[in-house]
Amino acid sequence: MISVAEAIQIVRQHTRPLPAERVKLHDVLGRVLAQEIIADSDLPPFDRSQMDGYAVRAEETGDAPVRLRIVGESAAGKGWHQELQQGEAVRIMTGAPVPVGADSVQQVELAHELKDGTVVELLEAVELGKSIVKRGSEIKAGEIVLQSGVRINAAMMAVLAAFGYAEVTVGQRPRVGVLATGTELVSVDEKPGQDQIRDSNNYSIAAYAQLAGAVVQRVSFARDETSVLKNQIAEATESCDVIVTSGGVSMGVYDVTKAALKELGAEIFFERVALRPGKPSVFARLPNGTLVFGLPGNPVSVAVTFNLFARTALLAMQGVTDPALKYETAVLARSVKGNTDRESYLPAQLTTNDDGELIAFPLKWGGSSDFVAFALTTALAIVPAGTKTLEANSLVRVLRLP
Ligand code: AMP
Ligand code: MG
Repeated sequence: MISVAEAIQIVRQHTRPLPAERVKLHDVLGRVLAQEIIADSDLPPFDRSQMDGYAVRAEETGDAPVRLRIVGESAAGKGWHQELQQGEAVRIMTGAPVPVGADSVQQVELAHELKDGTVVELLEAVELGKSIVKRGSEIKAGEIVLQSGVRINAAMMAVLAAFGYAEVTVGQRPRVGVLATGTELVSVDEKPGQDQIRDSNNYSIAAYAQLAGAVVQRVSFARDETSVLKNQIAEATESCDVIVTSGGVSMGVYDVTKAALKELGAEIFFERVALRPGKPSVFARLPNGTLVFGLPGNPVSVAVTFNLFARTALLAMQGVTDPALKYETAVLARSVKGNTDRESYLPAQLTTNDDGELIAFPLKWGGSSDFVAFALTTALAIVPAGTKTLEANSLVRVLRLP
């Protein structure tokens, strides 16, 4: 049995980025940058006023109150492009260019206009440079603003727009085939008959895959029959980069996933991980290069193993620099039991206490089949292999779930 860390390492080793593609800006949220983003202009592009007020020379305001002649107006999009002379002020709006010759902006609240708006009286002296954002102080033309390998978030959309990236080069989204195995399964719109249950794994897997940026294809259920499963996997490989199956990887008579993969000539990189829940996790590659994650059938095991292994692969395929979930450290709110030879990834919720510490509350759950308890889970709390009990108040590694 290999450790979780080794399994993640193996996934990374066998996962290559897909080719990049050009995508219109309005469709790139959540996509992974496959190019550097470079500023095509200084920001701000001119000395910009941060306030509504008056552009002046600071040295002329030392003996405030002082009166200055208003010689013009500079608004956003319509500046005043002459040179400010001694004794003069320009009425200026937030976002407008500061005229040459002015070096400070006094805010409108500290001034009032006289004589039909031809003169302004400044009530207080203004410091040199006040309320001006200098040209290029945020970024200079030619500087790299975003590195490739990051996932584009909402704030980055503004950056891309501001520098004129109407199209962006991003990693292709992997196409993921989702395939539930199990003779007991019926679909969501059916009433389960005797010995049957509704498939729920396909929905959680598809959802996690979408959160990871993949395009999901549903493959119809496979019975627990090697030949049927084999045909479905073979068909799915034609249109999928990755196939994620659930169920059929344990030691039972009807656990046929590995047999089907082997008959298809798959290379199996691992099939057992020292992990609870999720020990019988399979990672394999078919002869045509399609990767297969054979996840266990129990819904909580599915969520844990998908996010540790399949998610890492899906992000790596899009070119994410650091694709695996990040471990954090929290204080354990109550004691939990570990396992002799497997690392335990236990459902938990994270909060902070009044001292600003991150606290992990392990949830009560009925084991790897308890997907109802898991619906309230926001994180996994990790008990190292060989630790019998992790006591309350000890430090615990945690992973936030997507
Ligand atoms: P297996 O790994 O195939 O032995 O399945 C383990 C448990 O997970 C069994 O109780 C299955 O009924 C259940 N299970 C398997 N596939 C699904 C699925 N798609 N949705 C919900 N439960 C499932
Ligand atoms: Mg099964």
